[in-house]
Amino acid sequence: MEVADIKKQGAGEAEYGNLIRAIEMNTQIRDLSRVRDAFEFARTAHGEQLRKDGTPYITHPLNAAIIVAEMGLDEESIISAILHDCIEDTQVTHEDIAKRFGDSVADIVEGVTKLARIRYTSKEEEQMENLRKMLMAMARDIRVILIKMADRLHNMRTMEYQSAPKQREKALETMEIYAPIAHRLGMQKIKLELEDLSLLYLDPVGYHEIEAALQERARRNEGFMERTEQAIKNRMRESSINCAVQSRTKDIYSIYRKMFGQDKEFDEIMDIYAFRVIVDDIAECYNVLGCIHELYKPVPGRFKDYIGTPKPNMYQSLHTTVIGTEGIPFEVQIRTWEMHHTAEYGIAAHWKYKEGIEGRSDEEKFAWIRNLLESQEDTDAQDFISTLKVDMFADEVFVFTPHGDVKSLPAGATPIDFAYGIHSAIGNRMTCAKVNGRIVPFSHVLQNGDVVEIITSNTSKGPSRDWLTIVKSSEARNKIRQWFKKERREENIVTGRAAFEAEMRRQGVPLNVLGDERTLSRILERIAVRSLEDMYASIGYGGLSAQKTVNNIKDELRLIEKATKNAEVKPPWVSTALIAEKAVNGVVVEGVDNCLVKFSHCCMPVPGDEIVGFITRGYGVSVHRTDCKNYSVSAQRESEKDRWIKVHWAPSEEERYQTGLAITANDRDGLVMDIATVLNSLKIKVDALTARDMGGGLATVFITIKVKDKNELGIAMTKIMGVRSVKDVKRQGN
Ligand code: MN
Repeated sequence: MEVADIKKQGAGEAEYGNLIRAIEMNTQIRDLSRVRDAFEFARTAHGEQLRKDGTPYITHPLNAAIIVAEMGLDEESIISAILHDCIEDTQVTHEDIAKRFGDSVADIVEGVTKLARIRYTSKEEEQMENLRKMLMAMARDIRVILIKMADRLHNMRTMEYQSAPKQREKALETMEIYAPIAHRLGMQKIKLELEDLSLLYLDPVGYHEIEAALQERARRNEGFMERTEQAIKNRMRESSINCAVQSRTKDIYSIYRKMFGQDKEFDEIMDIYAFRVIVDDIAECYNVLGCIHELYKPVPGRFKDYIGTPKPNMYQSLHTTVIGTEGIPFEVQIRTWEMHHTAEYGIAAHWKYKEGIEGRSDEEKFAWIRNLLESQEDTDAQDFISTLKVDMFADEVFVFTPHGDVKSLPAGATPIDFAYGIHSAIGNRMTCAKVNGRIVPFSHVLQNGDVVEIITSNTSKGPSRDWLTIVKSSEARNKIRQWFKKERREENIVTGRAAFEAEMRRQGVPLNVLGDERTLSRILERIAVRSLEDMYASIGYGGLSAQKTVNNIKDELRLIEKATKNAEVKPPWVSTALIAEKAVNGVVVEGVDNCLVKFSHCCMPVPGDEIVGFITRGYGVSVHRTDCKNYSVSAQRESEKDRWIKVHWAPSEEERYQTGLAITANDRDGLVMDIATVLNSLKIKVDALTARDMGGGLATVFITIKVKDKNELGIAMTKIMGVRSVKDVKRQGN
């Protein structure tokens, strides 16, 4: 056998012996075979790994397991503590552990592993709170947190071999995250030790100053603690009170806080010395208090009954400060054994005391913890209680930004929720999302501890309507709706207006009804929009249906018509205008009265031409010939075809219409003059004339003329054809 193998086999045996003693003293576990199995399993898995101080790695999980055993936790917790670094640091998988030790142990170990992967950087208090919540939310099983505490405590106890930056980083994290969690779970013993150990690395000078002052005080008051402890014990014996008496000096960090936080001198701190009397039942606590107050003079205003009114973290005790025989003040805490365990181990102690909890379903366990915490009335604790609820019912998820900030989102949230949670501009411009460095679909469901990165682009087309069905947070949903309302307002107005006008025509309602102010305001009121533009915009983004809007308008018109039948002043459309049509520029737009009409420049129709109207964006109806190229193309387009409406020429003698001809001829001197002469003889006015050399001796003359109708134009075209060297005469726009 190799030397290394012998070493490996012996590794951790001493710690394992301590673990067995801790289990026997603090728990009901008597069959240790599974614990031994876990030890062998973890020792093999960690193999040759060493800690920074040179000891075999297995000593660390064993020491963590000792702390867990001291809390009085169950067998699964102790086994999980022994295995807690296996998934993180060795080849062992969740499956391996599940096979040998059961799913529950494997889940706990995996839970502890996940917590270890949370990156931590010091932030403002709000971020700290979110990080604490994230830890709780990720834990799911409260035992994960308790084991994590034990892990952290042992690491803090053995920090001296770590590098200075590592020490500081871990100490800060412990002070800001783990000690507050320990406090809130009532784990006072662990909390105090974590704080003192953190302080040692965060402010070694302050720490040693207080340590030295305490030693100095101990020299000055030599034997004080022993004498006082003995005096209390004697007094209790006289009264036949069965109890244990403990003495200690206050922990260094709480003295530090008083000195530096409340700006006190070391000598001003009253309760450097503290004594504890632990008895069997509550009634005895008050007897002890009476005896103490007989023995020593109480300091007024320092008595606190945390038995009648427990602290939010379940802490119960009687506190009093008295002046000892030597004039030295000290604090006495009086409590039962159960209270004592709760004070030391908080929630873990309740685990131990409420027998049979292990057998219950998870839901029952969580309900129990929740009730326990909810039964305490303290606003300070409220937030944390809701955190535990978050954990138990998982209605929130906590994720990181790439900068390490924590964002809280509703459970089931997606990268879209995250993006809008940061800023609406991020959401509106997002093109891609990464979770833990990998590109994911927008519908990806975020998990606690995920690092989420949003990639944006200024050329992004903005959110998609599908997102509304994917997002979980109302914040994101509202911001996306906002975007569709605002950013696309112009477009919404145009498409909304087109849809609206098409629907008005379909239902045979003349558009001019909107021209009467009183009528318009009644209509807008009925539809509950502020302006016509708002109405178009709403129809455009889908907030209003065009059909319903027109139905509403028709209803309203009927009401108005009825009400104004006998009135003297009637809206212009009443009775007559609903069907009347009036020509504008000699063109009647069917179903619409008095709308702006202009003639297209591309085909320049004249009376006699078959024509059709196009609803332009803001410039009324543009009239084209039905043989115009632009019409035939546009009428095929899905987006435009509904904007073409029927128009016809109104009989008129006065109007003249502009149109254009393209005349191709063999170029020669006097050509343009001859064309002008022909037109002049017909009394046709020429508005513009240009000629272009087409090469090969050919020229094209473009003329813009005004004619009465197609007939007059036809005559003009025939006459021009008769001009010498003219080969072809065509209308422009074909
Ligand atoms: Mn560890």
